[in-house]
Amino acid sequence: MAPMKNIPYGHQSVNLSDVFAVARGVRFEWITRGPAVEKFERDICKIAGSAYAIAVSSGSAALHCAYAAIGLEPGDEVITTPLTFAATATTAMNPGGVILFADIHPDTGNIDPKSVEALISLRTKAIVAVDYAGHPADMDELMVLGKKHGIPVIEDAAHSLGSLYKGRPVGSLADITALSFFPTKNITTGEGGAVVTNNPDFARKARLFRSHGMVRDKEFLHNTSEGPWHRELQSLGLNYRMPDLLARLGSSQLHRLPIFHKKWKQVFLGYKENLSHVPNLTLPFHHRESDPMWRLYPLRVDPRIRRAVFEDLRAAGIGVQVNYIPVNSHPYFRELGFTPDSTPHARDYYAGEISLPMFADLSSRSVKVISQKMADLRRSKK
Ligand SMILES: *Cc1c(COP(=O)(O)O)cnc(C)c1O
Repeated sequence: MAPMKNIPYGHQSVNLSDVFAVARGVRFEWITRGPAVEKFERDICKIAGSAYAIAVSSGSAALHCAYAAIGLEPGDEVITTPLTFAATATTAMNPGGVILFADIHPDTGNIDPKSVEALISLRTKAIVAVDYAGHPADMDELMVLGKKHGIPVIEDAAHSLGSLYKGRPVGSLADITALSFFPTKNITTGEGGAVVTNNPDFARKARLFRSHGMVRDKEFLHNTSEGPWHRELQSLGLNYRMPDLLARLGSSQLHRLPIFHKKWKQVFLGYKENLSHVPNLTLPFHHRESDPMWRLYPLRVDPRIRRAVFEDLRAAGIGVQVNYIPVNSHPYFRELGFTPDSTPHARDYYAGEISLPMFADLSSRSVKVISQKMADLRRSKK
């Protein structure tokens, strides 16, 4: 066989229509704060089944805006999962939030509502789920919990824009949903993200936080007798705006989301077909009630051979990753007294996890090659 070309872990899909969409905008009057951002926001609403979308400069910015929108204050507690990228937690800690880690379901890797419930107190300000690998969390159970205790539920949907849960789109499930458009996510604008909600008050506050907290809307000014130049800083915010150029790319990418969904499903099914006969390998769990956009293909092997398998796959030119190092095991968190032993399911999930390449242009032949390599390694390391 000819030597294999390297297969990257992830790769954005940018086609000519994406290129033209951006190119047309470069010489347009508005390259930021213009109509392309508003159009992108309307396009997101259609896909996410939500009333409001606020485009921002990253997924982390979206999370930060979501915490601002619910009025998170120093000392407020936020319950989330350790099986995520650190920003889910750190963007709540920046404004002074206190993180409590609930454990996960050992099958999906998603936060376990029972573990969440055990941590709820009068200080709880938010429950934050992450749709790990694109598979929606138990949103109905979490929303029931949130309603019962009067706590908003935030969904970190960095992996799951386009996923369906019981036939409903991600973006219509939680009180607030945060999206990321980083190149390894479901669509890309380079850097970018969005806050999605049906709650007009949350939407207004997220929009304000995105743009310095500066109020321009007459309806919300304290002083209405000043001239038309008048605006008011009523709270703190940041500049988290998305430029129009990137919003154009976003709208064009969103248009292609159904195709990405189909292609990723093919890759997912290809791995399943080629790997399900391999012994002692745990394939990603799929609840029938959901139709995920499979952003990751999280495999699990025996933790004792994870490192060797990972290194051999990398040496063979196959771009694998591990998702995620539990947030409560990072030095910053350990110094605050956190330990992954408080969430044993997440700790154990991580210990055997390897994410295989997953992107729209991954060919079925590459899927076969990767699976074969995986099977060979699995046998040789037993
Ligand atoms: C990527 C990611 C983020 C952060 O998004 P950025 O756009 O990189 O800031 C947050 N949470 C999860 C689960 C992610 O995968």
